Amino acid sequence: MMDSQTAQLIEKDRNHVWHHLSQHSALKQQDVLKQQDPMIMVKGEGSRVWDVKGNSYLDASSGGVWCVNVGYGRTEIANAVRDQIEKLNFFASTAGTEPSANFAEKLLEKMPGMSRVYYASSGSEANEKAFKIVRQISQQKYGGKKNKILYRERDYHGTTIGALSATGQEERRLHYGPFLSGFVEFPHCCEYRSQFGDVKDYGILAAKELEKVILREGPDTVGAVIFEPITAGGGVITPPEGYWPAVAEICKKYNVLIHIDEVVCGMGRTGKWFGYQHYGIKPDIVTLAKGVASSYAAISCVVTTEEIFDEFLADTRDRDTYFRDVSTYAGCTAGPAAALANLAILERENLVSNSAIMGDYLLEKLEELKTKHSIIGDVRGKGLLLGIELVSDLVAKTPVDETVAMNIAGMCMKKGLIIGRTNRSFKHFNNTLCLCPVLTLTHEEADFIIDTLDSVFVETSL
Ligand code: PMP
Repeated sequence: MMDSQTAQLIEKDRNHVWHHLSQHSALKQQDVLKQQDPMIMVKGEGSRVWDVKGNSYLDASSGGVWCVNVGYGRTEIANAVRDQIEKLNFFASTAGTEPSANFAEKLLEKMPGMSRVYYASSGSEANEKAFKIVRQISQQKYGGKKNKILYRERDYHGTTIGALSATGQEERRLHYGPFLSGFVEFPHCCEYRSQFGDVKDYGILAAKELEKVILREGPDTVGAVIFEPITAGGGVITPPEGYWPAVAEICKKYNVLIHIDEVVCGMGRTGKWFGYQHYGIKPDIVTLAKGVASSYAAISCVVTTEEIFDEFLADTRDRDTYFRDVSTYAGCTAGPAAALANLAILERENLVSNSAIMGDYLLEKLEELKTKHSIIGDVRGKGLLLGIELVSDLVAKTPVDETVAMNIAGMCMKKGLIIGRTNRSFKHFNNTLCLCPVLTLTHEEADFIIDTLDSVFVETSL
């Protein structure tokens, strides 16, 4: 039996809050009793969260959208934010502040080759700013040429119209066209779903698809290409062998900037500080959000090389070449204050290497599950960013319907485990479960994840 305060909170939520990415129903008041209560979260500690009804869950989704990297309940971050906002809560990013300068220096130490940090407050916004950088360079340096931005099928880059114009997920784009011109898609690199059949050099062939699109569009029209280093919400797709060296060569050959979207992969998620660092990539622009402050405060960053920054320096012809961009909340000091405390925790507790170690452990256990359950077609990922692709026929690789993945996630939840999944992103491939736990994950917690999945797969096959 629910107490009256809980019941009231649920009613307030049901009556007033419009949830993200959720199909609300038009049920009349008399049908409400039959409806599932909205989920309301009230507390977090370590890797666990509690809902308003007192149920506790191991959160293998790091907050539902892969962002609470250091886990819940970090007093150290709360104190750092409180101290900072008592001293100075805000000043516009046209000026500097103590935490923004201090965090920029610390962050860049982890990113050799990168040189400048431009602040914003969400992943989408950071990507928008990066697109504006590319477009301004196009105008200032190439007389308007090289303004196109290529993006990869299955990659997600955000919810705003520009970022959605650069997103290769048709269900996320549905209803929001027309999209911006100058954004062009190229094919994905998911080896399990190879476009070329069973081939030896899949990575090279997939990279050549990018080259074909650059040549089709005309290299003098293409300014940049945006990639997730490991596709996250699009089904946890690790790049195939040979892909990145070939891509880097192609971008160099056609003078195309490399923009790496580290919104999910950054800050230790994949077992290195940044996802691109697994593959020897030399990015021109990197965008970060989510794990930057483990979502204790809203902060995102556009990180560039000094060469990119130089394009915006005053030139001798007296033109205004500054970056014509400003966002109010980039000046909130809570973000960089939280980010500094977050970085200190990641370092002190060796959470980046824990992510690598626990990721390997989970992947090994998932491989074992795969031999037991024919619904598992593929397991993949790096560090604590892992995916389980579900199929109804192992040989034909027929994807299960989205409702199957949805039910499995629901069954896990009933057993006290929150997992993620590809959520209404594609027409036929919303069939990947995602594990993205907090980076403090222990062996005991990892075993709970595996045992729960194991029992749910058994029940699903009955
Ligand atoms: N890029 C990637 C790779 C993402 O996964 C997301 C969010 N899931 C974004 C960008 C957009 O970030 P935000 O939701 O903070 O705007």
